[in-house]
Amino acid sequence: MKITQVRLALLTAPLRVPFRTALREVSKVEDIVVELHTSESIVGRGEAPPTAAVTGETIGSISSAILEHIGPALVGKNVEHLDNLLAAIDRSIVGNSSAKAAVEIAVWDLYAQSCGLPLYRLLGGGINHLETDITISVNDPETMAKDTEDAVRKGYSTLKIKVGENPSLDLERLSAVRKAAPDAVIRIDANQAWKPRQAVQILENMQAEGLNIELVEQPVKARDIEGLEFVTANSPVPVMADESMFSPQDALTVMQRHAADFVNIKLMKCGGISNALRIAAAAEIYGVECMIGCMLEAKVSVTAAVHLACAKNIITRVDLDGPALCSADPVAGGAIFSGKRIELTEASGLGIDGISGLRYLN
Ligand code: MG
Repeated sequence: MKITQVRLALLTAPLRVPFRTALREVSKVEDIVVELHTSESIVGRGEAPPTAAVTGETIGSISSAILEHIGPALVGKNVEHLDNLLAAIDRSIVGNSSAKAAVEIAVWDLYAQSCGLPLYRLLGGGINHLETDITISVNDPETMAKDTEDAVRKGYSTLKIKVGENPSLDLERLSAVRKAAPDAVIRIDANQAWKPRQAVQILENMQAEGLNIELVEQPVKARDIEGLEFVTANSPVPVMADESMFSPQDALTVMQRHAADFVNIKLMKCGGISNALRIAAAAEIYGVECMIGCMLEAKVSVTAAVHLACAKNIITRVDLDGPALCSADPVAGGAIFSGKRIELTEASGLGIDGISGLRYLN
């Protein structure tokens, strides 16, 4: 079976409420979908969101990278020779991690379909379900308390809160959330907002208030590995590296320097499933538990992340609420989201049957 054509399309899904972080505000998911067509009518699918603030990629850059570099490197190649395909993607262009991830996910989808196996089983997994946290959107404390009660009522037991802009208001917000959910696991994400010493002080204040924070994601600037190391050594809250860790090489640096207690694997940062597997392997060696995360993504690429997480025991935490934040799901098949539980079917590949409302770009 040969890859005959690479098609790109835009997928749009509205969010229930605008998504705010220390870096940006977004009201809808608008992602690039990749379709790899073959000589045997099997289609492989992948997806990439434009997350300029994190990966530097836009709709324009993702589509150009795929149409001009990554796609042409695959057309005419045999699906059965996975390692060749992965090497061709890697060599096709420097950087562009989300564009590469989208195509790579489509290649793994094709390969697993050609083997007749769901991807998680191809990767060695034996359990087809997991539980995700849910992000409580940043708002005034009363609204956040109400949203928290809502989430707990829906069965969520782990909450993720974005913090950063205003430490004293963050403290009020988190206190309101903790009061509304005394038993929930609460993790926070500062998205690079703090200076190292400031971070330690803020986290000490939070724990002194009895907030019982499970972990903090990316307290300091992505490139400030020394700062990250300082916070990890001095903070009462365990630290997770997110924006500081894109590639497997970054992961090794973080782990060797003990710059974080945990790492957050995202397919869009590392460039796809094979690099995610390399990071997981390093994490197994260093005994560093991983979270699987996503950007604001619809269900194609998040389904790939679910397959990966189901296959790797070292991935102990799941932050895959992207599809749950959308008010409509244009993707048929794939992972089944029901509250905090995400389940895979035994369909081969990613298990995606089709996507409605796509606007094709080529
Ligand atoms: Mg994060």
